[in-house]
Amino acid sequence: MTPEAPTDGSLQPSKAFAAVDAETRALLPPQDLALLFRLEKDFAFSFQQLRLFARWSLDCAAWGEPALRLGAESGIAASLLSQGQPRQKGERLFQALQAAYDALASKAKTYPAESPKETLPSHKFVEKELKGRIFRLCPAASEKAVCCNLKVLNIVDNCAMACSYCVLQNHYDEAVIAVPTNLKAKLAEVQLVPEKRYRIGTGEYSDSLLWGNKNDILRDLCDFALANPNAILELKTKSANIGWILENDIPANVCCTWSLNPQIIISNEEHKTASLDRRLDAARAVADKGVKVGFHFHPMFYFDGWEAEYQALIARVIATFRPEEVLWVSLGCITLLKGFAQDFRLKFRHSKLLQMETEITQDGKITYAFHVREKLYRNALQALEPWKGSVFQYLCMEHKPMWDAVMGFAYPNMAVFDDAFNDSAFAKLRSSPVA
Ligand code: SF4
Repeated sequence: MTPEAPTDGSLQPSKAFAAVDAETRALLPPQDLALLFRLEKDFAFSFQQLRLFARWSLDCAAWGEPALRLGAESGIAASLLSQGQPRQKGERLFQALQAAYDALASKAKTYPAESPKETLPSHKFVEKELKGRIFRLCPAASEKAVCCNLKVLNIVDNCAMACSYCVLQNHYDEAVIAVPTNLKAKLAEVQLVPEKRYRIGTGEYSDSLLWGNKNDILRDLCDFALANPNAILELKTKSANIGWILENDIPANVCCTWSLNPQIIISNEEHKTASLDRRLDAARAVADKGVKVGFHFHPMFYFDGWEAEYQALIARVIATFRPEEVLWVSLGCITLLKGFAQDFRLKFRHSKLLQMETEITQDGKITYAFHVREKLYRNALQALEPWKGSVFQYLCMEHKPMWDAVMGFAYPNMAVFDDAFNDSAFAKLRSSPVA
């Protein structure tokens, strides 16, 4: 099939050509591209239907699923034998394709043991001067969700780890990591209310530990924590870069937390992160130093073997850490911004991320269907049972119906959630000596 714009004889570019952008055309398997033009010519597919077919074809190629094209070809064969106008046949064919795509998307993903060969960008550092407010509410917080009132410091922009699901893939030039030169001065502007308690993260716009103490970031953050004992500072990471933490005095109100997933997910969707073994070894070394740790099973994936894999992962964490060392554990699922999907399709050609039965949340994001998330959470909470009452457990970015379903209750508002969270976390800090 020619990549030139074909015309219908009236010198108008065909709908099939116009429905897919140049990048998509370059990525589509040639057989799918040929089929696309046939769907317009013989089955009068509309512009929107052609566009959807192109997207579905890209997805199936990324998932390693040829079935949609084969299904289309057999659907075409059957349609050609049946009666009716091209548009009627096309409508039936489109419905069949949609059903086939939905079925492929809904099934649990099967990951290869060998990680896929994505083209990943290298990264470079630039220096930047922080401007404006760097202290704010968690960017994912929502009034429509049951949220914990985490505050964040926006310090480093971007991340080098290339997790396929990460929103930073969309927000920044992937290759450029902007590290501040004036953090100390900007932290001095952050005025916390002495009577209030805070939990403050730095891992929402980048990884908290990957850069180590570049430009004195960690030193400045530790000084900030020392000056604000009513705040717990959370350094969240998927790295094993703990050298600076081990070599320096860390205030008792600084904790290090790790996002964890089974190794098969790390290999396939968290491309440049530390392996599970290295993350857990790093967490153990930090806990041995007396620094509090925490774990985020977030985002959890629905894949072949998920049940046993998450149970084994959580059992390993429970066997490796004592409850008094662990400030909190969170559970969460993939949440994608609308509009993320098409960029993602063009970037990650071997990811199964979009192979999911989806639901749009009340705040307009794409996530797993309720019943899938519920299964994932129930399984994880069952595995976390030994820590019930001794390690604070919560759902992140979830809504009241899910809390009610799997936790048996829901905090009525952010302030109550925040209080319960802080009661648990600060009590643990008080019960241990300053590291
Ligand atoms: S529950 Fe999750 S999304 Fe909501 S404020 Fe806390 S960390 Fe942010």
